[in-house]
Amino acid sequence: MLILSPKEEEESTEIQEFELGIIGLGPAGLTSAIYASRAGINVVCIGRDYGGQMGLALEIENYPGFENISGIELTDKMKDQAEKFGTTIVFGEVDKAEKTADNRFLIKTDMGNYLVKALILATGGRHMELNVPGEKDFVGKGVSYCATCDAAFFKEKTVIVVGSGDAAATGTLALSSVGAKKIFWVSRSDYLKCEKIYIDRANAKENIEILYNKQVTEIKGTNTVEEVLFQDGTSLNVDGIFAEIGAIPNIEIAEMLGVELENGLIKIDDDCNTNVSGIFSAGDVTSKIKNPLSRQVTTSVGLATIAALTAAEYLEARFTTQ
Ligand SMILES: Cc1cc2nc3c(=O)[nH]c(=O)nc-3n(C[C@H](O)[C@H](O)[C@H](O)COP(=O)(O)OP(=O)(O)OC[C@H]3O[C@@H](n4cnc5c(N)ncnc54)[C@H](O)[C@@H]3O)c2cc1C
Repeated sequence: MLILSPKEEEESTEIQEFELGIIGLGPAGLTSAIYASRAGINVVCIGRDYGGQMGLALEIENYPGFENISGIELTDKMKDQAEKFGTTIVFGEVDKAEKTADNRFLIKTDMGNYLVKALILATGGRHMELNVPGEKDFVGKGVSYCATCDAAFFKEKTVIVVGSGDAAATGTLALSSVGAKKIFWVSRSDYLKCEKIYIDRANAKENIEILYNKQVTEIKGTNTVEEVLFQDGTSLNVDGIFAEIGAIPNIEIAEMLGVELENGLIKIDDDCNTNVSGIFSAGDVTSKIKNPLSRQVTTSVGLATIAALTAAEYLEARFTTQ
């Protein structure tokens, strides 16, 4: 029998019930949805950003089976596959999640409320900011966090890409491809962390210049970005700056549910169990993937497979005999 608090009781008319709730519409969430719904589990998969970080990738060249596919196209395929097996997809923001008195989970979103018997957190990450003066003033006016999304606006313009990982690399190359006049690819250290193939491609492009040991200290302009200052006293006159410096894990929902963290990420065991019974986790948000460079679509979908199968076992053991 479902036991709800008086407040939950009041809202219960709006509550839809599912066996498994998944938070995240990135590759991890969608993969868990495919596995769980294919196993006959009634699944709701909720997310605010379609495809998560994968949705921002212009070209993915390292997902097996696809020589080259855009992040959105791969998301479409994963979503269609999950829906084919019966997953309900909800585009919405999860504002709150809590454990009910009978050990289920109530997920509250701007699109409605969902009551689930088990929960997979596949909440991934969101972009990190530079935290320098001027940055906030020029967001959308030359400051961007997604070269893949905004590159087209910078045709024949001069821009800076900050960061040394794969996202910065692919962003730099995307800007070059759309015809930016000049791209300064800036790393704060004396090396780049991305795959070597990207560095080779960048070096082969005439409009890309790689600058090392440079840290942005200020962004200046009048209506739009005009100048970027560095810690070494130098500056560059540019039309835009792309901060591609990594992701902040989305752990807010985990924290609400009392899920244990490790180094700011969700702590899971080898079977993707968290410390809270009935809550599992997968993908970039977990501490299982220790090296930031290994936060990839392939690693996310691998963990998501394990999380879904463990959740299925949990549901079978806890709920089918009742
Ligand atoms: C520009 C770019 C290019 C990349 N290129 C590649 C590549 O070529 N190859 C590769 O393998 N990897 C690439 N990556 C990395 C890859 O995209 C990530 O490793 C992968 O997306 C992580 O998947 P995930 O499902 O764990 O998390 P994410 O993709 O981050 O998805 C998290 C999901 O959770 C949702 N969410 C979080 N909190 C809430 C909330 N409160 N309410 C509702 N929804 C919520 C988000 O909206 C999102 O849908 C790239 C990343 C970027 C940014």
